[in-house]
Amino acid sequence: MKTLNQFYIDGQWVDPAPGATEMDIVNPATEALAGKVMLGTAADVDRAVAAARAAFPAWSQTSRETRIALLERITGLYKARMADIADAVRTEIGAPVALCQALQAPIGLAHLAAATETLRKFEFETAYGNNYVRHEAIGVAALVTAWNWPLSLICAKTAAALAAGCTVVLKPSEIAPLDAAIFAEIMHEADTPPGVFNMLYGEGKTVGARLSSHPDVDVISITGSTRAGVEVALSAAPTVKRVHQELGGKSPLLILDDADLPAAVTTGVTQVMMNSGQTCIAPTRMLVPRERYAEAVAVAAAVANAIPVGDPADPATKMGPISNRAQYEKVQRLIGAGMEEGARVVAGGTGRPEGVERGFYARPTVFADVHNGMAIAREEVFGPVLAMIPYDGEEDGIAIANDTPYGLAAYVASGDTARARRVAARLRAGSVRINAAQVDLAMPFGGYKASGNGRENGAHGLTEFLECKSVML
Ligand code: NAD
Repeated sequence: MKTLNQFYIDGQWVDPAPGATEMDIVNPATEALAGKVMLGTAADVDRAVAAARAAFPAWSQTSRETRIALLERITGLYKARMADIADAVRTEIGAPVALCQALQAPIGLAHLAAATETLRKFEFETAYGNNYVRHEAIGVAALVTAWNWPLSLICAKTAAALAAGCTVVLKPSEIAPLDAAIFAEIMHEADTPPGVFNMLYGEGKTVGARLSSHPDVDVISITGSTRAGVEVALSAAPTVKRVHQELGGKSPLLILDDADLPAAVTTGVTQVMMNSGQTCIAPTRMLVPRERYAEAVAVAAAVANAIPVGDPADPATKMGPISNRAQYEKVQRLIGAGMEEGARVVAGGTGRPEGVERGFYARPTVFADVHNGMAIAREEVFGPVLAMIPYDGEEDGIAIANDTPYGLAAYVASGDTARARRVAARLRAGSVRINAAQVDLAMPFGGYKASGNGRENGAHGLTEFLECKSVML
């Protein structure tokens, strides 16, 4: 059992200020206590921000080579801690060991490598005739992250901010503090100059709110729910800081009538159920031509029913529990809402999988006969729940795909790449993946509409942490 009772501020592990509270870290697979974490207060934020502010003048003036060297040291140490990181993520969010080893831990490394490459090539000055534009670090960056892909979010934000020359105060999700503790240890071992990286635990309504309203924080980058993103923007407004939001999604997979239907449906269901459906870009609305709907429903039900759900420590497990009790209850409520609204359950349903008595396990659930106005088609469930919606003709499919408050991602399946590209151009989403294409971490990532503002990754992600200065000669 781990006790996380210190914060990493100004290059050292320090005790919280008076008023900190203790929270249980619960293993969602067993509901057993996995540790304790201290949650800080505004006073801890003030101390961390002061350290970051004091470190900013020197760090922002460092050379590209100095920052690359730091990112490389972090990368090397991260590699050495991969097994610990995978173990922490499994313990705190219940992701299966195979997923932790293959993706949850390595994706942080991939982000560090991608950000280092971006920094190598990035042009911090652009000529306009005799004049030029300088791209300079904004200042102190507050980074607030969610629990679902914890290292992906922490590494993407931290690497970009440091590459830009910003100093950092990280507030990881209070639900996933174990992996963040390891990350802070890595930052310390990497000889990160004191104050350049700081980390404290805390709740959104206290530590998060102080970060977003703090006059000495120049940019806040949050990954989380749209609710939290809106609260951050409201609280940040009086200090006119930059706000970068990576928020929720309800992404469509638009299967066109010329697609390899069984392959497209199988990929779609697998992507939804991965990480127990707790992925912001999961294709949770599957849009199928009406004439092939029955066939698609049968394939989806078979794929969902065959997913091995169980102990995340078992290498054969493909789906573990939901990460915490509150999220489990939300998922159950929304599955119930789908049933009440008349959608047809063809796999899963409410409750735990058969024979499971403990743990926040949900059932891989597929709803057929969904129309796009139902709660399960409009609200982000953030659980293993797929809504299958029939459509009539390409125009109708595109209209349903875009009929959502969100715009994080979209997916197109088609046998005709030129047609898929035409359709992709009409989808209102920050990224479109065609026929099971892989994510490319060098490309911008972010949302349209209620899915956020700004972009993470690559040159666009670095730019989020930069000011722009015109110099005229
Ligand atoms: P959440 O909104 O509850 O919390 C996210 C983070 O924001 C946490 O660190 C939390 O403490 C903090 N927070 C909450 N309220 C805050 C406030 N008022 N001020 C400042 N900080 C606050 O989300 P979650 O349950 O941790 O994560 C799930 C959500 O994250 C889903 O909606 C998912 O789609 C989204 N998400 C988005 C992306 C993306 O890149 N767009 C990636 C992963 C997750």
